[in-house]
Amino acid sequence: MISQDTITRIFDAARIEEVVGDFVQLKKRGVNLLGLCPFHNEKTPSFNVNPVRNIYKCFGCGKGGNAVNFIMEHEHFTYPKR
Ligand SMILES: [Zn+2]
Repeated sequence: MISQDTITRIFDAARIEEVVGDFVQLKKRGVNLLGLCPFHNEKTPSFNVNPVRNIYKCFGCGKGGNAVNFIMEHEHFTYPKR
């Protein structure tokens, strides 16, 4: 279980490519990074990470967000909305 403090720290400090890179093997493609989406089954990478905007977006299943969203989705962790 991830604590609220941890989430806040992650949100403040996290580089999206490092957070996602812990779970997904990413390859550089232009300014973005590309990998296999961890949220749906695919053989062709459609999971994009944008280090400049610090966000991810999957063009296969439509999931996207920041580092905290990624961890929430990945852990099936519900983060209370403020
Ligand atoms: Zn996907």
